[in-house]
Amino acid sequence: MDAGALDDLRSIVGPENLIVDEEELRHYARDASPMTGQVPTAAVRPSSIEEVQGIVRWANRTGTPLYVRSCGTSLWGAVPVRKDSVVVDMRRMNRVVAVDEGSLSVRVEPGITFFELERELASRGLSVMVEPENWHGCVGGNFSSHGSGWGTGPNMANQAEAVLGLKVVLPDGSLLTTGSMASPWSGRQFYRYSLANDLTGLFAGSEGTLGIIVELALRVEEAPGGVGLAVYTFDDLGDAADALYRIRRVRIPTIYAYLAAGWTLDILYPEKAPWSHRLRVIVAAPTEDQVRMEMGRLDAIAGARGKYQGPAEAERLVKEKDAWVREFAYKAGMRAALMVHVPLGSLGDYLRKFESLAAHVREVYGLRMGVGGFLTDRSFVSVIAIYFDPRDSDSRSRAIAAWNDVKVRALESGAVPYRIGGIWADQMPRMGEYYDFLRRLKSTLDPMGIMSPGILGL
Ligand SMILES: Cc1cc2nc3c(=O)[nH]c(=O)nc-3n(C[C@H](O)[C@H](O)[C@H](O)COP(=O)(O)OP(=O)(O)OC[C@H]3O[C@@H](n4cnc5c(N)ncnc54)[C@H](O)[C@@H]3O)c2cc1C
Repeated sequence: MDAGALDDLRSIVGPENLIVDEEELRHYARDASPMTGQVPTAAVRPSSIEEVQGIVRWANRTGTPLYVRSCGTSLWGAVPVRKDSVVVDMRRMNRVVAVDEGSLSVRVEPGITFFELERELASRGLSVMVEPENWHGCVGGNFSSHGSGWGTGPNMANQAEAVLGLKVVLPDGSLLTTGSMASPWSGRQFYRYSLANDLTGLFAGSEGTLGIIVELALRVEEAPGGVGLAVYTFDDLGDAADALYRIRRVRIPTIYAYLAAGWTLDILYPEKAPWSHRLRVIVAAPTEDQVRMEMGRLDAIAGARGKYQGPAEAERLVKEKDAWVREFAYKAGMRAALMVHVPLGSLGDYLRKFESLAAHVREVYGLRMGVGGFLTDRSFVSVIAIYFDPRDSDSRSRAIAAWNDVKVRALESGAVPYRIGGIWADQMPRMGEYYDFLRRLKSTLDPMGIMSPGILGL
């Protein structure tokens, strides 16, 4: 890239927000996965919609690929695929634009973290609907990649369902507003589906391939008046899976229902092995009385074949939340996380398949593999963790080979990817007409191919 082009970019965001230092740029070739992408030529840190538009128009003039990043904590290889690219780092766009209590919505910029947003909403007694276990992930990247986690359960499958509307800078630099604010007279985000097609949904899971999201309107709700916590252990994984299915079927209002296989806990905490399978549940309701009633219904199901672990263990669920997230990811080495949705009603069968896959990974690649995951409406997000030593290049290469092997086996067993990024890109052409349609859509909206080329296999 010539110096004149870089000068033009610098003039859009200011000299302090154009990064060209090689060491700093290496950081942009990585996310929280074992995958390493191409080191970009530069990274820019815009602070306004106009600056984002300027960057996209500049990319069209110079034919430069752009890769968007909010917090950069993806686990699925959302890293630059093409050389000579520029990363658009959205972290400076981290403001709460407006809390609209009347519409029970909040408009935010994409670079805000869930931690920052919840802190802001707490003073009004409000809370967002869905957030990742990693509260330090950003809202923009979460919506753009079908995020789910806390809040998902009988009423909500993922972040896409929790969003009312967007502002998106399209690949030609123009600005699209979706949701009720698309009407020039509305001025508020209170309804998503009124103006013909659901264009908000078009951008959910699009991982930066169709434009740069510069504002999101999230649904908020009154923070629950009560929560109930419980941990149950099971000797049989099939029984634990069946309990989870029945909890969903009778619509117990869980905001967190997490199942960890005992053989995964054996890897993480060998000093206390052997572990039973553990189901950890948080129920939320508007009042304490309702919570007590729901906890009774929960116990009738989970307590039938599982063993309640008592109130102290339940309290630890929230207190040690951050520790669990960190330990599952990093305690036994770094984790190559492969995440797939499986149908809740067949969870027991899938968990048995994953157990034999773990044996396969141990025999062929010499690595340990664990499984945990959580309820999202009718499916279970299975987080398959392949542990490796990040300082050892041989261990990393084996983890990447195992990751690719397991992903194909999981896909062909009927599981579907959670999010795509780089890791699933080579499987997308196997989706036939669905993939062909995505390609046609992409080339229509982005004829220059500047938005995240290679991501989603596009
Ligand atoms: C230990 C750990 C636990 C985690 N637990 C969960 C969990 O429970 N649930 C969950 O959902 N995730 C989880 N994550 C993954 C991740 O932290 C979250 O999903 C996070 O919200 C992603 O946001 P991000 O901004 O970091 O994404 P990024 O990595 O910045 O981006 C993700 C994708 O979205 C695209 N993108 C980002 N911003 C924009 C934008 N403004 N416009 C268009 N495209 C954009 C990127 O190009 C990329 O393809 C976890 C991660 C870790 C490390």
